[in-house]
Amino acid sequence: MDTSATPVCPDCGFRIYNRRFPNCEACGAGLPESLVYSPIERFEFQLEEEERSLAKARRTVQQPFSITTPGSLDDSVLSAVLELTER
Ligand SMILES: [Zn+2]
Repeated sequence: MDTSATPVCPDCGFRIYNRRFPNCEACGAGLPESLVYSPIERFEFQLEEEERSLAKARRTVQQPFSITTPGSLDDSVLSAVLELTER
């Protein structure tokens, strides 16, 4: 981690870890707009997070299917089994 990139509060020098919060967590001073994320940036972060969790959910859903045989193979096996049982 590059700690020199961490912005600090201009009033008390407290390191700003949560740049989504518009005030210093130590002294409560208002932080300059250049230090905190704008509402648009925060919105974009939210979208990114939602997309990431969606992709994660999709991955966990798709995994069981990728392990099993493709649907076409399943169908042919199923019809073969049905033919055997119907006899
Ligand atoms: Zn401060």
